[in-house]
Amino acid sequence: MTIRSDLSAAVGNTPLLRLRRASALTGCQILGKAEFLNPGGSIKDRTALGLICDAEQKGLLRPGSTIVEGTAGNTGIGLALIGASRGYRSVIFMPETQSQEKIDALRIAGAEVRLVPAVPFKDPRHYVHVARAYGQSLNQLEPGSAWFGNQFDNTANRDWHEATTAIEIWEQTGGQVDGFVCSAGTGGTLAGVGRALKARKPGVKIALSDPSGSALANYINHGELLAEGSSISEGIGSSRITANFQDAPVDLAWSIPDQESVPLLHELLREEGWCVGGSSGVNIAGAIRLARELGPGHTIVTVLSDAGTRYQAKLFNPRFLREKNIPVPEWLDKAFPD
Ligand code: PMP
Repeated sequence: MTIRSDLSAAVGNTPLLRLRRASALTGCQILGKAEFLNPGGSIKDRTALGLICDAEQKGLLRPGSTIVEGTAGNTGIGLALIGASRGYRSVIFMPETQSQEKIDALRIAGAEVRLVPAVPFKDPRHYVHVARAYGQSLNQLEPGSAWFGNQFDNTANRDWHEATTAIEIWEQTGGQVDGFVCSAGTGGTLAGVGRALKARKPGVKIALSDPSGSALANYINHGELLAEGSSISEGIGSSRITANFQDAPVDLAWSIPDQESVPLLHELLREEGWCVGGSSGVNIAGAIRLARELGPGHTIVTVLSDAGTRYQAKLFNPRFLREKNIPVPEWLDKAFPD
Protein backbone atom coordinates (compact mmCIF):
# COMPACT_ATOMS: atom_id res chain seq x y z
CA MET A 1 0.00 0.00 0.00
CA THR A 2 1.35 3.39 -0.95
CA ILE A 3 0.19 6.76 0.28
CA ARG A 4 -0.54 9.42 -2.38
CA SER A 5 0.28 12.86 -1.04
CA ASP A 6 -2.37 14.71 -3.03
CA LEU A 7 -4.84 14.43 -5.89
CA SER A 8 -2.21 14.91 -8.61
CA ALA A 9 -0.20 11.98 -7.23
CA ALA A 10 -3.30 9.78 -7.65
CA VAL A 11 -3.58 10.48 -11.40
CA GLY A 12 -2.40 7.70 -13.73
CA ASN A 13 -0.85 4.31 -12.97
CA THR A 14 -4.15 2.71 -13.95
CA PRO A 15 -4.47 -1.06 -14.40
CA LEU A 16 -4.66 -2.84 -17.75
CA LEU A 17 -7.79 -5.01 -17.89
CA ARG A 18 -8.14 -8.10 -20.04
CA LEU A 19 -11.34 -7.70 -22.05
CA ARG A 20 -12.54 -11.31 -21.95
CA ARG A 21 -15.24 -11.25 -24.58
CA ALA A 22 -13.35 -9.16 -27.17
CA SER A 23 -10.31 -11.42 -26.67
CA ALA A 24 -12.34 -14.62 -27.09
CA LEU A 25 -14.04 -13.22 -30.18
CA THR A 26 -10.75 -12.49 -31.97
CA GLY A 27 -8.17 -14.92 -30.55
CA CYS A 28 -6.08 -11.91 -29.57
CA GLN A 29 -5.36 -10.56 -26.12
CA ILE A 30 -7.32 -7.31 -25.96
CA LEU A 31 -6.46 -5.08 -23.03
CA GLY A 32 -8.21 -1.91 -21.85
CA LYS A 33 -6.40 0.78 -19.85
CA ALA A 34 -8.79 1.57 -16.99
CA GLU A 35 -8.70 5.37 -17.19
CA PHE A 36 -12.12 5.67 -15.52
CA LEU A 37 -10.27 4.92 -12.28
CA ASN A 38 -8.52 8.30 -12.30
CA PRO A 39 -9.64 10.61 -9.44
CA GLY A 40 -11.75 12.83 -11.71
CA GLY A 41 -13.11 9.76 -13.50
CA SER A 42 -11.44 10.01 -16.90
CA ILE A 43 -8.25 9.90 -18.95
CA LYS A 44 -8.46 13.68 -19.16
CA ASP A 45 -7.15 13.99 -15.59
CA ARG A 46 -3.78 13.20 -17.17
CA THR A 47 -4.19 15.96 -19.75
CA ALA A 48 -5.27 18.41 -17.05
CA LEU A 49 -2.25 17.56 -14.91
CA GLY A 50 0.14 17.75 -17.88
CA LEU A 51 -1.18 21.16 -18.93
CA ILE A 52 -1.10 22.54 -15.37
CA CYS A 53 2.45 21.29 -14.66
CA ASP A 54 3.66 22.81 -17.94
CA ALA A 55 1.98 26.16 -17.15
CA GLU A 56 3.39 26.21 -13.61
CA GLN A 57 6.88 25.54 -14.95
CA LYS A 58 6.50 28.44 -17.39
CA GLY A 59 5.27 30.72 -14.60
CA LEU A 60 1.81 31.10 -16.15
CA LEU A 61 -0.08 29.90 -13.07
CA ARG A 62 0.26 31.07 -9.48
CA PRO A 63 -1.98 30.72 -6.39
CA GLY A 64 -5.26 32.53 -7.02
CA SER A 65 -4.96 32.29 -10.84
CA THR A 66 -8.03 31.46 -12.91
CA ILE A 67 -7.88 28.44 -15.18
CA VAL A 68 -9.99 28.92 -18.32
CA GLU A 69 -10.69 26.05 -20.71
CA GLY A 70 -13.00 24.91 -23.48
CA THR A 71 -13.91 21.25 -23.05
CA ALA A 72 -16.47 18.54 -23.71
CA GLY A 73 -16.39 18.21 -19.90
CA ASN A 74 -13.79 15.69 -18.79
CA THR A 75 -10.73 17.94 -19.12
CA GLY A 76 -12.67 20.60 -17.23
CA ILE A 77 -13.41 18.17 -14.39
CA GLY A 78 -9.70 17.29 -14.15
CA LEU A 79 -8.65 20.96 -14.25
CA ALA A 80 -11.23 21.96 -11.62
CA LEU A 81 -10.26 19.17 -9.19
CA ILE A 82 -6.51 19.62 -9.56
CA GLY A 83 -7.15 23.37 -9.43
CA ALA A 84 -9.05 22.93 -6.15
CA SER A 85 -6.12 21.06 -4.67
CA ARG A 86 -3.60 23.72 -5.80
CA GLY A 87 -5.48 26.95 -5.15
CA TYR A 88 -6.74 27.89 -8.63
CA ARG A 89 -10.30 28.71 -9.62
CA SER A 90 -11.73 27.41 -12.90
CA VAL A 91 -14.09 28.78 -15.51
CA ILE A 92 -15.14 26.10 -17.97
CA PHE A 93 -16.84 26.61 -21.35
CA MET A 94 -18.61 23.65 -22.90
CA PRO A 95 -21.19 22.92 -25.60
CA GLU A 96 -24.71 22.68 -24.20
CA THR A 97 -25.22 19.24 -25.82
CA GLN A 98 -22.91 17.44 -23.38
CA SER A 99 -24.27 15.09 -20.71
CA GLN A 100 -25.95 16.59 -17.65
CA GLU A 101 -23.85 14.26 -15.49
CA LYS A 102 -20.63 15.96 -16.69
CA ILE A 103 -22.09 19.44 -16.18
CA ASP A 104 -23.11 18.48 -12.63
CA ALA A 105 -19.68 16.93 -11.94
CA LEU A 106 -18.04 20.19 -13.02
CA ARG A 107 -20.24 22.25 -10.73
CA ILE A 108 -19.56 19.90 -7.81
CA ALA A 109 -15.84 20.22 -8.56
CA GLY A 110 -16.19 23.96 -7.98
CA ALA A 111 -15.95 25.12 -11.58
CA GLU A 112 -17.95 28.01 -12.92
CA VAL A 113 -19.65 26.41 -15.94
CA ARG A 114 -20.62 28.43 -19.01
CA LEU A 115 -22.67 26.55 -21.59
CA VAL A 116 -22.43 27.75 -25.19
CA PRO A 117 -24.19 26.65 -28.40
CA ALA A 118 -22.80 23.52 -30.11
CA VAL A 119 -21.55 25.14 -33.33
CA PRO A 120 -18.76 24.21 -35.79
CA PHE A 121 -15.18 25.31 -35.05
CA LYS A 122 -15.26 28.01 -37.73
CA ASP A 123 -18.07 29.80 -35.85
CA PRO A 124 -16.72 32.43 -33.40
CA ARG A 125 -19.28 31.20 -30.81
CA HIS A 126 -17.50 27.79 -30.66
CA TYR A 127 -16.54 26.90 -27.07
CA VAL A 128 -12.79 27.00 -27.74
CA HIS A 129 -12.89 30.53 -29.19
CA VAL A 130 -15.19 31.82 -26.45
CA ALA A 131 -12.94 30.34 -23.73
CA ARG A 132 -9.79 31.84 -25.27
CA ALA A 133 -11.44 35.28 -25.58
CA TYR A 134 -12.69 35.13 -21.98
CA GLY A 135 -9.15 34.36 -20.74
CA GLN A 136 -7.83 37.32 -22.74
CA SER A 137 -10.50 39.61 -21.26
CA LEU A 138 -9.50 38.61 -17.70
CA ASN A 139 -5.85 39.26 -18.51
CA GLN A 140 -6.70 42.69 -19.89
CA LEU A 141 -8.39 43.59 -16.61
CA GLU A 142 -5.56 42.15 -14.53
CA PRO A 143 -2.44 41.00 -16.42
CA GLY A 144 -1.39 37.42 -15.66
CA SER A 145 -4.56 36.59 -13.70
CA ALA A 146 -5.88 33.94 -16.13
CA TRP A 147 -4.44 31.01 -18.03
CA PHE A 148 -6.12 29.36 -21.05
CA GLY A 149 -5.30 25.63 -21.09
CA ASN A 150 -5.75 25.22 -24.88
CA GLN A 151 -5.86 21.42 -24.67
CA PHE A 152 -6.44 20.95 -28.42
CA ASP A 153 -3.37 22.83 -29.61
CA ASN A 154 -1.11 22.85 -26.54
CA THR A 155 1.22 19.90 -27.14
CA ALA A 156 2.01 19.61 -23.42
CA ASN A 157 -1.12 17.40 -23.62
CA ARG A 158 0.48 14.93 -26.06
CA ASP A 159 3.82 15.09 -24.23
CA TRP A 160 2.22 14.03 -20.94
CA HIS A 161 0.68 10.93 -22.56
CA GLU A 162 4.04 10.18 -24.20
CA ALA A 163 5.74 10.35 -20.79
CA THR A 164 3.08 8.57 -18.68
CA THR A 165 0.26 6.64 -20.45
CA ALA A 166 2.59 5.17 -23.06
CA ILE A 167 5.32 4.18 -20.61
CA GLU A 168 2.79 2.50 -18.32
CA ILE A 169 1.42 0.48 -21.28
CA TRP A 170 4.96 -0.47 -22.35
CA GLU A 171 5.91 -1.61 -18.85
CA GLN A 172 2.59 -3.34 -18.07
CA THR A 173 2.86 -5.45 -21.24
CA GLY A 174 6.61 -5.99 -20.87
CA GLY A 175 6.94 -4.54 -24.37
CA GLN A 176 4.72 -7.35 -25.74
CA VAL A 177 2.29 -5.01 -27.46
CA ASP A 178 1.47 -5.42 -31.17
CA GLY A 179 -1.15 -2.73 -31.59
CA PHE A 180 -2.65 0.32 -29.91
CA VAL A 181 -5.98 1.79 -30.91
CA CYS A 182 -8.09 4.68 -29.62
CA SER A 183 -10.34 7.51 -30.69
CA ALA A 184 -9.23 11.15 -30.79
CA GLY A 185 -10.72 14.34 -29.42
CA THR A 186 -7.67 16.52 -29.03
CA GLY A 187 -5.52 13.66 -30.36
CA GLY A 188 -3.25 13.89 -27.30
CA THR A 189 -3.70 10.24 -26.28
CA LEU A 190 -3.29 8.79 -29.78
CA ALA A 191 -0.28 10.93 -30.68
CA GLY A 192 1.48 10.62 -27.33
CA VAL A 193 1.03 6.86 -26.93
CA GLY A 194 1.57 6.24 -30.66
CA ARG A 195 4.86 8.13 -30.78
CA ALA A 196 6.32 6.51 -27.66
CA LEU A 197 5.36 2.96 -28.68
CA LYS A 198 6.68 3.42 -32.24
CA ALA A 199 9.97 4.75 -30.84
CA ARG A 200 10.37 1.56 -28.77
CA LYS A 201 8.94 -0.88 -31.33
CA PRO A 202 8.72 0.43 -34.91
CA GLY A 203 6.54 -2.52 -36.02
CA VAL A 204 3.71 -1.75 -33.58
CA LYS A 205 0.46 -0.82 -35.35
CA ILE A 206 -1.24 2.41 -34.26
CA ALA A 207 -4.91 2.74 -35.23
CA LEU A 208 -7.61 5.41 -34.96
CA SER A 209 -11.19 4.38 -34.18
CA ASP A 210 -13.24 7.39 -35.16
CA PRO A 211 -16.94 7.88 -34.36
CA SER A 212 -19.42 8.55 -37.19
CA GLY A 213 -19.68 12.29 -37.75
CA SER A 214 -15.95 12.86 -37.34
CA ALA A 215 -13.69 13.77 -40.28
CA LEU A 216 -10.48 12.17 -39.00
CA ALA A 217 -10.79 8.63 -40.42
CA ASN A 218 -11.52 10.06 -43.85
CA TYR A 219 -8.52 12.37 -43.49
CA ILE A 220 -6.19 9.45 -42.69
CA ASN A 221 -7.60 7.20 -45.42
CA HIS A 222 -8.22 9.70 -48.23
CA GLY A 223 -6.56 12.98 -47.18
CA GLU A 224 -9.91 14.76 -46.99
CA LEU A 225 -11.55 16.33 -43.92
CA LEU A 226 -14.97 14.91 -44.70
CA ALA A 227 -17.53 13.82 -42.12
CA GLU A 228 -20.68 11.76 -42.50
CA GLY A 229 -23.40 10.86 -40.01
CA SER A 230 -23.39 11.52 -36.27
CA SER A 231 -22.68 9.78 -32.97
CA ILE A 232 -23.99 9.84 -29.41
CA SER A 233 -20.42 9.46 -28.10
CA GLU A 234 -18.98 12.56 -26.43
CA GLY A 235 -15.47 14.02 -26.28
CA ILE A 236 -14.22 12.34 -29.46
CA GLY A 237 -14.14 13.07 -33.16
CA SER A 238 -12.99 16.25 -34.87
CA SER A 239 -13.58 18.36 -37.95
CA ARG A 240 -10.00 19.66 -37.99
CA ILE A 241 -6.39 18.58 -37.46
CA THR A 242 -5.28 19.87 -34.07
CA ALA A 243 -1.63 20.46 -33.14
CA ASN A 244 -1.86 17.41 -30.86
CA PHE A 245 -3.26 15.14 -33.60
CA GLN A 246 -0.80 16.47 -36.20
CA ASP A 247 2.08 14.12 -35.39
CA ALA A 248 0.12 10.98 -34.51
CA PRO A 249 1.73 8.05 -36.36
CA VAL A 250 -1.52 6.42 -37.56
CA ASP A 251 -1.31 3.20 -39.64
CA LEU A 252 -5.02 2.39 -39.86
CA ALA A 253 -8.28 4.26 -39.32
CA TRP A 254 -11.95 3.29 -39.24
CA SER A 255 -15.20 5.17 -38.88
CA ILE A 256 -17.30 3.34 -36.27
CA PRO A 257 -21.11 3.65 -36.15
CA ASP A 258 -22.94 3.75 -32.79
CA GLN A 259 -24.78 0.58 -33.82
CA GLU A 260 -21.41 -1.21 -33.60
CA SER A 261 -19.89 0.48 -30.54
CA VAL A 262 -22.80 0.87 -28.11
CA PRO A 263 -23.80 -2.85 -28.08
CA LEU A 264 -20.16 -3.63 -27.19
CA LEU A 265 -20.32 -1.53 -24.05
CA HIS A 266 -23.72 -2.96 -23.10
CA GLU A 267 -22.24 -6.47 -23.42
CA LEU A 268 -19.10 -5.48 -21.51
CA LEU A 269 -21.21 -4.28 -18.59
CA ARG A 270 -23.56 -7.26 -18.63
CA GLU A 271 -20.98 -10.01 -19.05
CA GLU A 272 -17.84 -8.58 -17.44
CA GLY A 273 -19.15 -5.90 -15.08
CA TRP A 274 -17.18 -2.94 -16.48
CA CYS A 275 -19.36 0.14 -16.93
CA VAL A 276 -17.68 2.42 -19.48
CA GLY A 277 -18.67 5.42 -21.60
CA GLY A 278 -19.36 5.90 -25.31
CA SER A 279 -15.79 6.62 -26.40
CA SER A 280 -14.67 3.38 -24.75
CA GLY A 281 -17.23 1.52 -26.90
CA VAL A 282 -15.72 3.12 -30.02
CA ASN A 283 -12.25 2.14 -28.76
CA ILE A 284 -13.24 -1.50 -28.14
CA ALA A 285 -14.82 -1.68 -31.61
CA GLY A 286 -11.51 -0.42 -33.00
CA ALA A 287 -9.55 -2.98 -30.98
CA ILE A 288 -11.69 -5.80 -32.42
CA ARG A 289 -11.17 -4.47 -35.95
CA LEU A 290 -7.40 -4.20 -35.40
CA ALA A 291 -7.33 -7.74 -33.96
CA ARG A 292 -9.08 -9.05 -37.09
CA GLU A 293 -6.56 -7.15 -39.22
CA LEU A 294 -3.51 -8.58 -37.38
CA GLY A 295 -4.90 -12.10 -36.87
CA PRO A 296 -5.00 -14.29 -33.72
CA GLY A 297 -2.21 -14.36 -31.16
CA HIS A 298 -1.51 -10.61 -30.94
CA THR A 299 -1.76 -8.25 -27.99
CA ILE A 300 -3.76 -5.08 -28.57
CA VAL A 301 -4.17 -2.25 -26.09
CA THR A 302 -6.98 0.28 -26.04
CA VAL A 303 -8.37 2.83 -23.61
CA LEU A 304 -11.42 2.77 -21.34
CA SER A 305 -11.57 6.56 -21.16
CA ASP A 306 -14.34 7.16 -18.62
CA ALA A 307 -17.28 5.50 -16.87
CA GLY A 308 -20.74 4.82 -18.26
CA THR A 309 -22.30 6.45 -15.21
CA ARG A 310 -21.22 9.79 -16.75
CA TYR A 311 -23.79 9.16 -19.54
CA GLN A 312 -26.41 7.11 -17.73
CA ALA A 313 -29.37 9.12 -19.08
CA LYS A 314 -28.26 8.43 -22.67
CA LEU A 315 -26.28 5.18 -22.95
CA PHE A 316 -28.55 3.20 -20.63
CA ASN A 317 -31.87 4.83 -21.51
CA PRO A 318 -33.98 2.56 -23.78
CA ARG A 319 -36.08 5.43 -25.10
CA PHE A 320 -33.04 7.55 -26.01
CA LEU A 321 -31.31 4.59 -27.68
CA ARG A 322 -34.41 3.74 -29.72
CA GLU A 323 -34.66 7.34 -30.94
CA LYS A 324 -31.08 6.99 -32.21
CA ASN A 325 -31.76 3.60 -33.86
CA ILE A 326 -29.36 1.83 -31.52
CA PRO A 327 -30.29 -1.72 -30.42
CA VAL A 328 -31.65 -1.99 -26.87
CA PRO A 329 -30.70 -5.22 -25.07
CA GLU A 330 -33.56 -7.11 -23.42
CA TRP A 331 -32.13 -6.73 -19.89
CA LEU A 332 -32.01 -2.95 -20.27
CA ASP A 333 -35.60 -2.82 -21.49
CA LYS A 334 -36.64 -4.91 -18.48
CA ALA A 335 -34.68 -2.69 -16.08
CA PHE A 336 -36.47 0.45 -17.32
CA PRO A 337 -40.02 -0.47 -18.39
CA ASP A 338 -41.87 2.54 -19.84
N1 PMP B 1 -12.83 9.84 -24.37
C1 PMP B 1 -13.41 10.76 -23.60
C2 PMP B 1 -14.56 10.34 -22.74
C3 PMP B 1 -12.97 12.09 -23.62
O1 PMP B 1 -13.55 13.02 -22.84
C4 PMP B 1 -11.90 12.44 -24.48
C5 PMP B 1 -11.36 13.84 -24.54
N2 PMP B 1 -12.24 14.84 -24.85
C6 PMP B 1 -11.34 11.45 -25.30
C7 PMP B 1 -11.81 10.15 -25.19
C8 PMP B 1 -10.26 11.77 -26.30
O2 PMP B 1 -8.98 11.92 -25.78
P1 PMP B 1 -7.93 12.89 -26.48
O3 PMP B 1 -8.38 14.30 -26.22
O4 PMP B 1 -6.64 12.57 -25.83
O5 PMP B 1 -7.91 12.62 -27.95
